[in-house]
Amino acid sequence: MPSKRVRPEVLTFTPYVPGLSIDEIKARYGLETVIKLASNENPLGVSPIVQQVLAHAVDQVFRYPQNHSPRLTQAIAKAMGVPAEMVVAGNGSDEIIDLLLRVVAQPGQDNVVCYEHSFSMYAMMARMCGVEYREVPRGEDFRLPLESLAEAVNHNTALVFVTSPDNPTGLAARAEELMVLSGVLPPGALLVVDEAYMDFTWPPEEYSMMNAAAELGNVVVLRTFSKAYGLAGLRLGYGVMPVWLADHVRRARPPFTVNLLAEEAGIAALDDDTFYSATLEVVFTGRERLLKRLPELGCTVWPSQANFVMFQPPLSAGVVCEELLKRGIIVRHLKSFGLPANIRVNVGTGPETEAFLKALEEILNA
Ligand SMILES: *Cc1c(COP(=O)(O)O)cnc(C)c1O
Repeated sequence: MPSKRVRPEVLTFTPYVPGLSIDEIKARYGLETVIKLASNENPLGVSPIVQQVLAHAVDQVFRYPQNHSPRLTQAIAKAMGVPAEMVVAGNGSDEIIDLLLRVVAQPGQDNVVCYEHSFSMYAMMARMCGVEYREVPRGEDFRLPLESLAEAVNHNTALVFVTSPDNPTGLAARAEELMVLSGVLPPGALLVVDEAYMDFTWPPEEYSMMNAAAELGNVVVLRTFSKAYGLAGLRLGYGVMPVWLADHVRRARPPFTVNLLAEEAGIAALDDDTFYSATLEVVFTGRERLLKRLPELGCTVWPSQANFVMFQPPLSAGVVCEELLKRGIIVRHLKSFGLPANIRVNVGTGPETEAFLKALEEILNA
């Protein structure tokens, strides 16, 4: 019985289900063009400067990269105003989540705490590490339940996860509220604030825990190059964490998980203010447009500080998603987040966002 050789965590594991790819949708519905607004990717694509840097670096890929990506780590530290010793770069922030669990959470003993309807990676990786995953209910209207998180922790809590701005709701917690949470955690518990969408908040100083992380001693901030920097396919993210923890994380991880092209692209992306500002401009404009237009079409929307909007259509969300797919538009049905009545759509280019709204109007008026 080969499955007897497999760990029980793996046998009962439900793998991450990404949305269909553009090519899969084209084949299934016989479409020539498809607009993907389902994975919160950058509407402007890859920065032209980063593309040049990548092309230039291609002839170096026969070399191993430098372990722990010291040049990139320095560049991140400078951009974020934190000491480089606190920065650990990873193969997407997903790798940092996995490393944190493996470094601080004892299998079969410790727990990690989050709230319901959140990013599935925390639960998946906790379970895969044999660590108990505790989930508290959200507050009214999906509010981030910071008080309930504080009540759910105990002396075996290794990590408390908060996504801010939150995926899939777009709601953000204020830095002062998160500082209160960090202040009431028992010694030994770390607050992990996943700031994948922090670039899209305004004003970011009121929301980001980046500065606080350098001072508080029990806070880890996660960031990614997958969204505002347009590098999802290269896999690059990082954590900013207490120096003792960063040292252990670096010791525990396999070498070279950040590849040579990702390191070069990351350094160039941090320096490319033009592309970054253009991204924010498109996202802010498109987000405002979605938040205004969706209620006019009879949908309920939630205020968003991210590059996407969550909404509830007046018809079945499953039907609406299917009808959008037939028209070549991919959005995210939130069934997988435990919210079967809701949909998440990310801001596209101006024309993409308009095409989505037009198709939705057609569907809702049919
Ligand atoms: C997109 C996203 C990330 C980024 O993950 P990467 O592994 O860096 O691509 C992290 N956290 C949340 C909540 C996200 O939605």
